[in-house]
Amino acid sequence: MTVESILRIKGTEVTTARPDESIRSIARTLAARRIGAIVISRDGRKVDGILSERDVVRVIAESGDAALDAPVETMMTRTVVTCGRRDRIESVMATMTARRIRHVPVVEDGALAGIISIGDVVKSRLEEVEHEAQSLREYISGY
Ligand code: AMP
Repeated sequence: MTVESILRIKGTEVTTARPDESIRSIARTLAARRIGAIVISRDGRKVDGILSERDVVRVIAESGDAALDAPVETMMTRTVVTCGRRDRIESVMATMTARRIRHVPVVEDGALAGIISIGDVVKSRLEEVEHEAQSLREYISGY
């Protein structure tokens, strides 16, 4: 299975925000859209950074509520790990585990082309395992 196969089902839409948007406004978007991370981009194509709910919690813990009015570019992660459409899900899963990240934007020809979350990866792996089990059952029972 590839990243492409997940994007075919979930679509390629990615919620982005501009670097000058406040962390407070981004926290509201995360809550309203029930997502865990937002890609920061000046033009909606190039990935300039990422901010996850974990970053919001860290900001509040370290600096208190007032820090939420700072622009996201002051707190976002700038070195973003990305993947390509043709990458295998197993490889994205290994990257998520090794880097302790739960979101990996998909980039194609330098432009944002989707996002894969750890939830998408787990769902896809479960479906694959169920499919394999079904094939084995059919093989054993002779159908
Ligand atoms: P998450 O597991 O997505 O909630 O993110 C945990 C931490 O890793 C946060 O500090 C994020 O800003 C950062 N992070 C999330 N996704 C990525 C990514 N694809 N590349 C680099 N850092 C990331």
